[in-house]
Amino acid sequence: MYDNFQKFLSQELDGIREAGLYKNERIIVTPQGAEIRVNSGKEVLNFCANNYLGLSNNPKLIAAAKEALDTHGYGLSSVRFICGTQDLHKKLEASIAEFFGTEDTILYAAAFDANGGVFEPLLGEEDAIISDALNHASIIDGVRLSKAQRYRYANADMADLEEQLKKAQAQRFRLIVTDGVFSMDGNVAPMDKIYELAQKYDAMVMIDECHSAGVVGETGRGVTELYNLRGKIEIITGTLGKAFGGAIGGFTTGKKEIIELLRQRSRPYLFSNSIPPVVAAAGIKMFDMMAETNELQDQLHENTAYFVQKMLDAGFDIKPTRSAICAVMLYDAKLSQEMAAKLLDEGIYVIGFYYPVVPKEQARIRVQISAAHKREHLDKCIAAFTKVGKELGVLKA
Ligand SMILES: *Cc1c(COP(=O)(O)O)cnc(C)c1O
Repeated sequence: MYDNFQKFLSQELDGIREAGLYKNERIIVTPQGAEIRVNSGKEVLNFCANNYLGLSNNPKLIAAAKEALDTHGYGLSSVRFICGTQDLHKKLEASIAEFFGTEDTILYAAAFDANGGVFEPLLGEEDAIISDALNHASIIDGVRLSKAQRYRYANADMADLEEQLKKAQAQRFRLIVTDGVFSMDGNVAPMDKIYELAQKYDAMVMIDECHSAGVVGETGRGVTELYNLRGKIEIITGTLGKAFGGAIGGFTTGKKEIIELLRQRSRPYLFSNSIPPVVAAAGIKMFDMMAETNELQDQLHENTAYFVQKMLDAGFDIKPTRSAICAVMLYDAKLSQEMAAKLLDEGIYVIGFYYPVVPKEQARIRVQISAAHKREHLDKCIAAFTKVGKELGVLKA
């Protein structure tokens, strides 16, 4: 039986390789950070992690995690509602609600699960989900699992959203769903206008804050802070796997009845293990730190502004960004790969993205800035980009 299937799989894999879409994983042998070493022994500056606040290797979080190992053990070996909830999990949920100004929070093993488990329990056939075309894969999958009617609008296109909302008036309840920050361009969803349209057409709003939480807004409270919508959004999903320490874990936070029903009916919550105590304890510590000081957000915002300005000055074509994602536009797929390879030779680790990850003729290198980057790291990155950019003829005169 396997012989035929094996042949089929080999052909599929060859096809992926021939299309140049095969994903190779680089192996890091140090903790995640601004400076990393890969298994070849090469030391590089990392500009492609979601480690926005530089917390992946933070000593205070490590200490909190170590302490929790002693006080709460290693694993829970149970889903939440059987025997998998500790005081730590409840405390972390309260910390997240406090951070976002919401009523209650439910934890998941990952944001992928939070998004996968949010639609099906809440909305039925008689309801509508109106989703941005560039929303994360986990939202797309989550929407597919629900029986609600689906509407899609072009990325951040408010005329199109209004069009779809008009069509969705036939349904009982309407939920507009958007990423807070879109990961390929770094643009922020126009939440002021989305909220206005939601009011006008009697819709609820859900924001996925995975790339925006910790990053966007003066104090990193995400797009609801940026647009003064704190406490007004029905559903927010997010991850502990990016700015917030980068380990693992996701959450849905929002109106208390919504969270309560998710605890009863959300399948990835009911049928999957609890996050480990070390992650919960470090998460609590992380939100305590956020409440005490704005240092890391300030540093991140300063670093991002500095980097973007210097890259523009150097003559690069940068997508307008309001996040820590900086898309260096090259348009040509092959060029994006060549440039990323040459940058790696210069000790700068970045990734070139091209179709189908981004639209055709929209190839780019995505740079992700971190509060962990020192000025000398940023300068080295800008110098390397400028050198390689000149070699490849991509700088504007
Ligand atoms: C990263 C990401 C996720 C998935 O987060 P995990 O916790 O790693 O599963 C979901 N949505 C968006 C927008 C993301 O960027």
